[in-house]
Amino acid sequence: MDVEITIFSDLPFEKTTSWGPAGLHRIDNGMYRKWGNLTFQRYSNLFRDIGGTTGIQKLSGNILSEDIEKLRLQERNYGDIVYDFHFLSPRELLQFNSERTNLSGIHFTAFTTEGRKYVPWMTERLKGLGVHFIQRHVLNVLELINEGFDVVVNCAGIRGGEVADDGDSVNVYPIRGVLFQVDAPWQKQFLYEDFTTFTIPTIESVYMGTVKEINGMSTQVSPEEREAVRQKYIKLQPAFKNVSIISEWVGFRPSRDPIRLEAIPFNNDLIIHNYGHGGNGFTLSWGCALEVVELIKNHFN
Ligand SMILES: Cc1cc2nc3c(=O)[nH]c(=O)nc-3n(C[C@H](O)[C@H](O)[C@H](O)COP(=O)(O)OP(=O)(O)OC[C@H]3O[C@@H](n4cnc5c(N)ncnc54)[C@H](O)[C@@H]3O)c2cc1C
Repeated sequence: MDVEITIFSDLPFEKTTSWGPAGLHRIDNGMYRKWGNLTFQRYSNLFRDIGGTTGIQKLSGNILSEDIEKLRLQERNYGDIVYDFHFLSPRELLQFNSERTNLSGIHFTAFTTEGRKYVPWMTERLKGLGVHFIQRHVLNVLELINEGFDVVVNCAGIRGGEVADDGDSVNVYPIRGVLFQVDAPWQKQFLYEDFTTFTIPTIESVYMGTVKEINGMSTQVSPEEREAVRQKYIKLQPAFKNVSIISEWVGFRPSRDPIRLEAIPFNNDLIIHNYGHGGNGFTLSWGCALEVVELIKNHFN
């Protein structure tokens, strides 16, 4: 298919959600296994063929929990997609916190896709293929249809409902998160307890997090919040008591249950909504993009 593509964004990249995360590959909802699997294969290929200049890093690590059911759910969602997935043996668990007898854990190898490196890399690649990038606010999808675009793909994240302009904005909500870039270059594996207390090393940085505040809107990190995240992590890995924070970031996971990936024909044209990826946007991105391509092909064939 010979197509001309224009990407509109009203914010500088540094102000978008995709700038901040470490982007660990981990599927929260088994409904999205197909998209997560396709994306994993893409990152695996990019890491093999091009390497870290893409912002992608191959990374192993562990997730601990006192609730083994949560870990079994991880196994069902992506145990056969990532590499080296296994439940930790009692001996392996001893490396974390020897005083807790009720802890279970999983180990796996996946990829991080650090937004601030991956998105600029993709942008340059797309520019090389002739894609146009324009910084401009778009009121809604119909504005672009009326300008003569045959297909409009709405990937407006937290403002996806607003841009759809069909009443869906009530279904989109933020889950606020904070990430701290910390000075611990010796940390070479990710480590989670449940899904809010973690460190994730990327190519040059180590990120510590987080909170999951539904409908939270504050763009600031309070001193209490900073200390609470730090103390929770120190309990998990005491070595972090001497680690300093280099920078901090607040982001809003663009959430919708379920994700909206839907084609809506409009006369001879096509509107596709692709938003609401919550805390899994990097994990699902390529799989969703491939589905968008299928929807376009089906419409025009
Ligand atoms: C703390 C935190 C940790 C995370 N960790 C992970 C992780 O480990 N793994 C993972 O896979 N995901 C993670 N995520 C989730 C991931 O960051 C998001 O799902 C993803 O970045 C969303 O991308 P998006 O393109 O939908 O939205 P965005 O990155 O926000 O992009 C939306 C774009 O739409 C444009 N736009 C919006 N409205 C308009 C308009 N009216 N006109 C023109 N342009 C418009 C904006 O300018 C922007 O360019 C995390 C998120 C947070 C906050």
